[in-house]
Amino acid sequence: MGAVARAADAPVVLSEDDPMAKTLGYYKDASKVDVKKWPKRAAPEGKKQFCNNCQFFTADGKTQGKCQIFANKLVASKGWCNTWTAKPAA
Ligand code: SF4
Repeated sequence: MGAVARAADAPVVLSEDDPMAKTLGYYKDASKVDVKKWPKRAAPEGKKQFCNNCQFFTADGKTQGKCQIFANKLVASKGWCNTWTAKPAA
């Protein structure tokens, strides 16, 4: 029972095939973004955009973090989506 409860509580990893992920152009590897479809990441500034420097990202380990836009599902640190917004300067 305990294991089941833990599994239910565990954060869910966002799939690229999730309908909302597709709508917002989420890629778990930002270098694979189709920049014809998502020109925001084609611009010189776009190359610096990753989940781990996005306002909506909270790191959870080195390679992933929770994304507020996707109901706190886990996204890849080096991922990207079209909702990317720069973290406000600290
Ligand atoms: S909103 Fe930000 S953290 Fe969330 S998937 Fe898009 S780029 Fe990554």
